[in-house]
Amino acid sequence: MPHEAGQLATMAGSEPDMAEGNAGHPTSITSTQARSRAEATKAWLDANSFSESQGRVALVSDEAMLLHAGPPNHPERPARLAEILRQLDMSGLHSICKKVTSREATKEELMRVHTENHVELVSKSATAKKKGKGWGLPFGPDTYANEHTPHCSFLSAGCLLALVDHCLQDTVNERCGMALIRPPGHHAGAEKASGFCMFNNVAVAVRHAQSEHGLKRVAIIDWDVHHGNGTNDVFSEDDSVLFFSLHRYDSTFFPGTGYAEDVGKSAARGYTVNVPLDKGFGDLDVAHVMRYLICPVIEKFAPEAIFISAGFDAVRGDPLGDCRVSPEGFGWMTRCLYRLAQHYCEGRLFLALEGGYNPDLIAQCTVECVRTLLAEVHDLAGPGAEDFVPPAPSPSSSLPGTPAMLPASPLFCASNGSEASQPSTPSLRPDGTPPSSPALGRKACCDFFAREVLDLRH
Ligand SMILES: [Zn+2]
Repeated sequence: MPHEAGQLATMAGSEPDMAEGNAGHPTSITSTQARSRAEATKAWLDANSFSESQGRVALVSDEAMLLHAGPPNHPERPARLAEILRQLDMSGLHSICKKVTSREATKEELMRVHTENHVELVSKSATAKKKGKGWGLPFGPDTYANEHTPHCSFLSAGCLLALVDHCLQDTVNERCGMALIRPPGHHAGAEKASGFCMFNNVAVAVRHAQSEHGLKRVAIIDWDVHHGNGTNDVFSEDDSVLFFSLHRYDSTFFPGTGYAEDVGKSAARGYTVNVPLDKGFGDLDVAHVMRYLICPVIEKFAPEAIFISAGFDAVRGDPLGDCRVSPEGFGWMTRCLYRLAQHYCEGRLFLALEGGYNPDLIAQCTVECVRTLLAEVHDLAGPGAEDFVPPAPSPSSSLPGTPAMLPASPLFCASNGSEASQPSTPSLRPDGTPPSSPALGRKACCDFFAREVLDLRH
């Protein structure tokens, strides 16, 4: 999440006399655009007569996670989550969705991914040396801890577990949802905290879904602007988990990993997919990745649940990402992935907040994603967002991984190479051929991609 360690340390140290901690409650940082979006959403909810807590989309969060706070001006600050909760409330989405009760993850659950030593280090981080401030830096120059960090870290992971436990029950109406959590997770490795992340929330939840709910194949799509290096490493030798990351990649950008040739190891070769993109990538680029890469890979892998490491630092205006995805673009990706989840895994789609450092913008992205889930679950058009099509490419647009890179992954080879002779499966073929098998979700998938993706001119 940080640009690089040195830069962030400089930022943190640039205003040493500011008040300690970071309450993160500015009087109002909600933009006019965000208010309009919230009003449109509220009108749409009213028009469709949603009733309280009956939206069939689950949300989980806990305001206690606002207490994890560090240096003034640190990008990973409480205002991020506070603003998300504020805009979800303003838009009416919060009351319509099912609220799942938060909980802490247990040490045993965390140790499915992390070493006991790392779990202990986070547990004891409340007492990190603070040098007269309200926080310390026990995990390196970027990753602060204060007295509340252990509780918040266990909550952050536990909230996502609670979401999974709720949605995987047979007796509830919700199959998908979002965990609004911090600290984030995707840079945390088995043995270390890194890049503002303590525990790898998504990795822990995937292991939990496998261990406690018997899921065999789980896919993770990481659309945070930074490579999810922690998650990548946790699953690099595991062919039961598909890890797919699209991210900005250049020599100075954190964490410096995630090149296309990193496709996993030994028997799991091909089950890690890294799509490095140029600085400045936007809606068209992510649409291209979705069409040519994510859809065929998901089709081949056929997961039983899909997790999204949902960082919003690729949004235009993010102070660290320098990219140009729109809030509507994140909603659009959510819709694509929901339809894949609906087709392959009964709609089991779990979003977990990762990075994103402009509180107003990440809250707008969250509103788009949650509203999209509601629209999809109820088979409704959204208030304008339904018509969203990624804009046409500009002459300078840098398109990411083209089909030419597909042979890097055996999954790609398998789905691509035999395409001509293979019976069509009912989903999303990269060459635009209509699916022929009339299975669940076929029409929705076909209509959607015919309208929104396959008609795009590349
Ligand atoms: Zn990030």
